[in-house]
Amino acid sequence: MAEDLTYLSIDEARGLLDRREISSVELTEAHLRRIEAVEGRVKAFITRTPELAREQARLADDRIKAGEAATFTGIPVALKDVLCTRDAPTTAGSQILRDFLPPYDATAVARLRAQGAIFVGKANTDEFAMGSSTENSSFFTTHNPWDLERVPGGSSGGSIAAVAAGEAIVGLGSETGGSVRQPAGFCGIVGLKATYGRISRYGLIAFASSLDQIGPATRSVADCAHLLGAVAGADPRDSTSAPAEVPDYRAALTGEIRGLRIGVPREYFEMGLQPGVESATREALRVLERLGAELVEISLPSSGLALPVYYIIAPAEASANLARYDGVKYGLASEQDSLLATYLESRRAGFGPEVKRRIMLGTYALSSGYYDAYYVKAQQVRTLIKDEFDRAFGLAADNGAGAGTAGVDVIVAPTSPTTAFKIGERSDDPLAMYLADVLTIPANLAGIPSVAIPCGFADDLPVSLQIMGPAFAEERILRVAEAYERQTTWTQRRPPLDVASAGA
Ligand code: GLN
Repeated sequence: MAEDLTYLSIDEARGLLDRREISSVELTEAHLRRIEAVEGRVKAFITRTPELAREQARLADDRIKAGEAATFTGIPVALKDVLCTRDAPTTAGSQILRDFLPPYDATAVARLRAQGAIFVGKANTDEFAMGSSTENSSFFTTHNPWDLERVPGGSSGGSIAAVAAGEAIVGLGSETGGSVRQPAGFCGIVGLKATYGRISRYGLIAFASSLDQIGPATRSVADCAHLLGAVAGADPRDSTSAPAEVPDYRAALTGEIRGLRIGVPREYFEMGLQPGVESATREALRVLERLGAELVEISLPSSGLALPVYYIIAPAEASANLARYDGVKYGLASEQDSLLATYLESRRAGFGPEVKRRIMLGTYALSSGYYDAYYVKAQQVRTLIKDEFDRAFGLAADNGAGAGTAGVDVIVAPTSPTTAFKIGERSDDPLAMYLADVLTIPANLAGIPSVAIPCGFADDLPVSLQIMGPAFAEERILRVAEAYERQTTWTQRRPPLDVASAGA
């Protein structure tokens, strides 16, 4: 019974809780036991919060008894450790924040807390969300539940692995350049990067502010719709949060996609796809076609420029954002004879190698004499990438640059060129690591929503499809994802952790 309680959907758990067939305390204890059972192998959490979870569960049961349950009352949630929580340390995967207890909750966290959600732990992340594997976490590497010798992807690998392994019903991660979708793909679950501005960034530890977005990590599209609905919406504390009303995303999942025009971007299939990834993606496209959608080949010629553009803009913003960690205001402090020496030594001791690399790249790109050549140029190409998406979605006129106006409703492509790689395989080669995000980063630069959904297996590892849409078309991309999900069984598969434990 306990095992089954850990793989419930929100709708299932909600039903059991509201009918009082199980209590929130029981549901929480089942997850805490599951965490005990698998965490030694998966290592999804930097900080586990069982006492907080138990206290929240008791309150949730009171609320359910009073007939005042909200969607997330009593639902166990994993939070990426870049989301500030007022009652649990928030490290960003970094030594520089290893003892940081935020004085406030991130807005997304506060909204879930207000609904009565259960926080089971703070999940592992690459340091300051810089990475694609969790190997840049300064604590430890999380293991992929499908193959413990492989990475779960990153940087939200902890939240994603926790949800895939049944340690939480849903999780929150964050994306700057693919960090929810790529690990969701590697671990066979659903991951969403919403439109920039859809979810408040207040209390999300900043990496690159023009790109950062909090995103849902779930085992089904319906759960994703629920979680997006719970955390989305305007926030006076984040001036970049959009005032657009929050629709009922769950109600948008009608299964109906007949007549929808699906763009298939040629360039995404020319970026070194593993054969099994390409075949699973093409098969998924056929499923969508059978549902009555029309496939339209499109061109997004600047897609190949997204990765270099990202690696100028993201480090540039990071170099500014991370200036605040100086050994005085936050976290690790190494007091020296002079203030400058204190700054230097605190940052030397507190930041890991990838963070230092990004700070150096970003400082260089912003320095006088190089600013126009790198930063300004990158911003211009970013606009080009966004314009190409706009034209593909029929939102702008053809400018004669070759992209045309395809007028498609959504764009479908693989999420990553490969399945999960081995731990250690790319950790000494930053470029190989960066390439893991080559297909996810364009949507981040354009600010558009994209949902990653499991679409098969290659050599026993999950493969993922992403569905991109115009800004604020989350209902549409989730509808396509769920229509596809109904036709397949990929999101019902569970990683072979229990088999492995029998031998362990
Ligand atoms: N892997 C990319 C990077 O290292 C993206 C990270 C992210 O989305 N947070 O920057």
